[in-house]
Amino acid sequence: MYGMELVREGQNRYRLKRSGNMRVDGFVYVNEYLLPLVRRDKSLEQLANAASLPGVVERVCGMPDIHEGFGLPIGGVMATAADGVISAGAVGMDINCGVRLLATNIMAKELKIPFLRRLIERIEEYVPTGVGKKGKHKAITGEIFEEVVHTGSRGIVKRGYGRPEDLGRTEEEGCLSGADLGAVSGEAYKRGAVQLGTLGGGNHFIELQVVEEVYDPAAGKLFGLEPGVLTVMIHTGSRGFGHQICVDYSKSLLPAARKYGIELPDRGLACAPADSKEGRDYYAAMACAVNFAFANRQLITHDVRCAFGDIFGCSPEELGLDLIYDVAHNIAKWEVHGGRKVLVHRKGATRALPPGHPGNPAVYRRTGHPVLIPGSMGTASYVLTGTGAAAETFYSANHGAGRTLSRTAAMKEISREQFEASMGGVLYNSRNYKELLDEAPGAYKDIDQVVETLAAINLTRKVARLLPLAVIKG
Ligand code: 5GP
Ligand code: MN
Ligand code: MN
Repeated sequence: MYGMELVREGQNRYRLKRSGNMRVDGFVYVNEYLLPLVRRDKSLEQLANAASLPGVVERVCGMPDIHEGFGLPIGGVMATAADGVISAGAVGMDINCGVRLLATNIMAKELKIPFLRRLIERIEEYVPTGVGKKGKHKAITGEIFEEVVHTGSRGIVKRGYGRPEDLGRTEEEGCLSGADLGAVSGEAYKRGAVQLGTLGGGNHFIELQVVEEVYDPAAGKLFGLEPGVLTVMIHTGSRGFGHQICVDYSKSLLPAARKYGIELPDRGLACAPADSKEGRDYYAAMACAVNFAFANRQLITHDVRCAFGDIFGCSPEELGLDLIYDVAHNIAKWEVHGGRKVLVHRKGATRALPPGHPGNPAVYRRTGHPVLIPGSMGTASYVLTGTGAAAETFYSANHGAGRTLSRTAAMKEISREQFEASMGGVLYNSRNYKELLDEAPGAYKDIDQVVETLAAINLTRKVARLLPLAVIKG
């Protein structure tokens, strides 16, 4: 058991002091509004559990959107040394769930509501939504799927589903090396092979937004974000493929942990040494799912561009629809921090490299890459950049607003009136509001508070605030 003592270390920063089996401290980033929320679930205990794993270095971090998850909390960052562990539960169920943002050259106010409605309906004709849906691209065969899990977005763009410059505007250029389909189960293969180009259920979305405010005009200009511009945000991951890989390895890493004498504080943190056969297998399978997810968002991008072209009656290129960036928020990656190579597990956390860092793509070297933070379908979303000060979080930021109500609680507690009021005039695709209650804006924390928490202490920099106009929910 742990003491769970939070010691304030200046503004918006608390130290979860080492106790029990913890090998390092935890750091939790919350302001006065968010602090009480952290105590309402098992987030802190889960952070303490992660801090007890072999090879964990420096500190485990809880982002302002932290909430309880499976193993590691969502909004959690854990880095392990080369001789430390890799954990499937610390990556998450939806491997490489992530966000991408497209900028158009369209002024949002020129679009009337019936036109927006036609646009989202057209997008939905291209992109299958909902749990368990299969992809529509019959040309994407099993063979292409097999190639794509090793090449990521590249394998999709080279077949004409995208623009070559999209690759340089994707984290890892859309391909994490080290993938090996040999480490993936037949069940995962079966689920994944038919799901490229699908959005998935619940929390995943395609959203049309307008740039409401730009805080950093220089970065905004570089990213293609000016007030009034229409943007498209896409949030999805590796679908049944990544889910199955997480399920498979969360199971098989339990006996592996025993074999290597690792005492597990929680079954959700099943793990093995990163350089063991079991650990390497998980990494190789995870990389397959990472690549699948990059390719999935790329294929959806292509479909969204086609839908725009159809409705506007011109080529998508004429509308801009340039990819600004694509970031992962459930991933484990080898990175160099403080001069040493560590495996950074980010679960519900976004990489946020500072300006000048060599890991930035060339186009964004000067500013740092865009950090994309969805809020909810009724509130703002943000574009940020990283800062040098964020070395203390392994250059990571939050990944969203984070839940404040569980799905069941949201369904029970939010009335129709509250739902409609919180959506304002935002259009949504669902025929029945009840299907969306678990995703209602009221089920999430206040995004402005969450973003301000890190920005106020210079761990991120705000670039732009986006407001939703129309949303397609999975
Ligand atoms: P997750 O990956 O944890 O499911 O979701 C990431 C974040 O996306 C959530 O914490 C929430 O803040 C945000 N989010 C969920 N649904 C929507 C939506 O429909 N639109 C926008 N803009 N953000 C959303
Ligand atoms: Mn997801
Ligand atoms: Mn996600």
